[in-house]
Order: sequence, then structure tokens, then C-alpha cells
Amino acid sequence: MNHFDYKNGELHAEDVALSAIAAEIGTPFYCYSTATLERHYRVFSEAMQKDALVAFSVKANGNLAVLKTLASLGAGADVVSGGELKRALAAGIPGEKIVFSGVGKTKAEMALGLKNRIYQFNVESEVELLALDEVAGALGVKAPVAFRVNPDVDAKTHAKISTGGAETKFGVPWSHVHTAYATAAKLKNIEIVGVDVHIGSQLTDLAPFEAAFTRVVELVGDLRREGHAISRIDLGGGLGVPYRNDNLPPPDPAAYGALAARITKNTGARLIMEPGRLIAANAGVLVAGVIYVKQGENKKFLILDAAMNDLIRPAFYDAYHEIVPVAAPTADTQWTHYDVVGPVCETSDIFAADRPLPVLKSDDKVAILTAGAYGATMSSAYNARPLAAEVLVKGGEWAVVRPRMDDDALFGNDRIPPWLG
Ligand SMILES: *Cc1c(COP(=O)(O)O)cnc(C)c1O
Repeated sequence: MNHFDYKNGELHAEDVALSAIAAEIGTPFYCYSTATLERHYRVFSEAMQKDALVAFSVKANGNLAVLKTLASLGAGADVVSGGELKRALAAGIPGEKIVFSGVGKTKAEMALGLKNRIYQFNVESEVELLALDEVAGALGVKAPVAFRVNPDVDAKTHAKISTGGAETKFGVPWSHVHTAYATAAKLKNIEIVGVDVHIGSQLTDLAPFEAAFTRVVELVGDLRREGHAISRIDLGGGLGVPYRNDNLPPPDPAAYGALAARITKNTGARLIMEPGRLIAANAGVLVAGVIYVKQGENKKFLILDAAMNDLIRPAFYDAYHEIVPVAAPTADTQWTHYDVVGPVCETSDIFAADRPLPVLKSDDKVAILTAGAYGATMSSAYNARPLAAEVLVKGGEWAVVRPRMDDDALFGNDRIPPWLG
């Protein structure tokens, strides 16, 4: 459920007409709905055990206003870089609610985490563990560690967002897990606290979660018998969202929470969850203007002022996004089919092929739905296209939460070397 609906013939975010925002700041822009973020966070956290840490995955949407909205509801953060850690802290998320994931943390990033007393490092290899021990030793602190284990489970999602198979770079290989914990137990500056798993993103079936969580709980029993104090189980993120109106909806958070509770119930461990997409995806849209409608040899192209640099998911993952007109269709509306594209000089700069839409003309506006996760965070300035503006709506109010990139940000940091004068 989300709060983007037609009212008075216009697509609204909560009580704000998207056309009113477009008239003021231009297009393209991302628009996020506070009520939707809050609803998704609440539905998710209420489906989890009371003491669970819900650590929002910052890579899904790292805007400080979004993070602050979630932080005020009690959310923690799952970060995968020093930059994301700084974002989470800047949004007011305390270190004690931050977990640090990622396969290649640098020593500088580790030090930043340790200085801010983060809750947990999800360590992915023994070499990383040794580096963390060294950094913690130099700072005179102990690093709280869970190993991210690779359970070799097929997440049955797009190959580019599958992370739990033995062939991926993620996690400690299943056959190395026991030696990894044994190594950690010997290190002076490491405190073993838990086990972590994350098998992929946009999972639309609970079965892979069930398989992975079951393996992890068995592992926790084995590790405890080996003398390790495992008090936390981090189950990662990955629950999918509906991108297509006509698709069966993915499993709901209640079923997912019940599954996690059932499988972990005898462990007595505190659960950590790292949802990203589920919280943010349907809480955001990308609003774009039509530059031209171009007649090709065989098809019509709807050329938008948003492009793959703004939202790369269709080009990168063959992802489907609903695209709707900002002005509500009526009974008299004429419909046609368009290839919906951006202006970037790449054939893959296409949002949708042969998509039924009302007949549109230059300056009309469309909204690309379910763009609140892995949208703005994955955007780039390719083709020297400024990063789009971001807007947050709350009821009848709205605010620009990141202005469109200006020329200074676009190329003002380039430097001319002395020999070019
Ligand atoms: C990306 C990621 C998540 C969030 O995944 P979603 O599919 O957005 O829920 C959680 N944990 C880790 C380690 C990740 O890399």
C-alpha cells in the first residue's frame, strides 16, 4: 500500500499534487511519501519480535530526510560503506543501532565504525577479521563481530541481486565457517556476538528464506556447542515488493516475521533485520516530463527528461516499473503504446517497451512508480546530467530534501592541470 493516488484528476503524493511540485522545481524529481515510509516501517517492525533491531538498509535510500523519518520511529541502519555510516549518523541514528555489512570494509571504515561504537560488524572473511582485530587493537577497543555466512541457498531472484549462492563473493563459505569462528575466538580485540546471513534482494517466495534461516539456526546450535557465545542472529533483508500491478504480491511482512520467529524461537537470540526495498520502494516515485514524442520506423518513443542515470534498474536488472500519467486518464482518453526512453546515448536507456499509456505530448508529466529504493542511491551524472532533485511529502506539506545538482556540483570539482594553463 502507498499514498500515491489520483485526486481531482491529478496524481498526488498524500495531499500534494505532483504537478504542483513539478511547476515549482521542474522535472525530473524523486518524490517520497512520509506516510508510506512510516506505514511500511510500522507494518514491518510490528511483524517482528518486540526486541528485534530493524536496521534499514541505507543503500536502498540514503537521503537524510528519509533516514531521519525512519530514525524517529526507532529504526537502526545497515550500512555498507563509511559514507553510508556517516549518513546514518548524520540522520541521528545512534551507533548502537548500526550494523556494518559489506565484503570489503577498509581499515579507515572499520576505525570509523569502532569510534562510533556501532552495534556489530558483519565480517565476511578471515582476512577481514584480522584487519578488524588490528584496527580495534590500535584503538584499544573490542569489535563486536558476526560472520556473514554463505548458506549456499538459491534466492530464486535476478542473478545480479542473488548473494547467497556459493559462487557469489558474499559471506564466509559454509565449509569455512567453523574455522572462522575458531580464529575469531583467539583474537584479543574481537568479541563474537552473532551470525549473519543475507541471501539476496527482491525475493518473492519465502522458501529460500526458510532454507537459509534453518541452516543458520542449526549453525548457531553447533557454534554454541563449540563454545561461542552467539546472542544475535542477523537475518539480513531481501523481502520483495510488487513492481507490477498485475503480479501476485510477494509474501507479506507478517508471514515473513512469523517465519523468522518460528525458526529462531528456541535460540533465545536477539534478531536483527535489514529491510531496504520493502520499506522504501513503494514510498517513492520518479516524476518526469515528456521532452518529445518521436515517431520511429515502427514504434513511437516517449522521450522523457529522466533517464537511466536517474533510475538504472530497468537497464541494469531488466526491472519492470509501472509508469502512469500525472494527469488522470478519463473515459475520453485515447490510448497508445510507447517505448518509454530517456535522452542518454545508450540503447539500454529504456524504461519500458511497448507500454500502453494515454496519448501524451511534450511537457506532459509521468510518474515512474516503485522508485523509492535503489533509485536515487544508484543514480549517476552520466552524460553530465545533474542528479535529480528529491522531495519529501508529509500530508499537505512538501520540501526539497536534495536540490537538483547545480553546475558547480556537476563539474566544479574538476581541476585543470598546470600544463593546460
Ligand atoms: C542490500 C542489502 C540489504 C537490503 O536488501 P533489500 O532487498 O533492499 O531488503 C540488507 N542487507 C545487506 C547486507 C544488503 O547488502
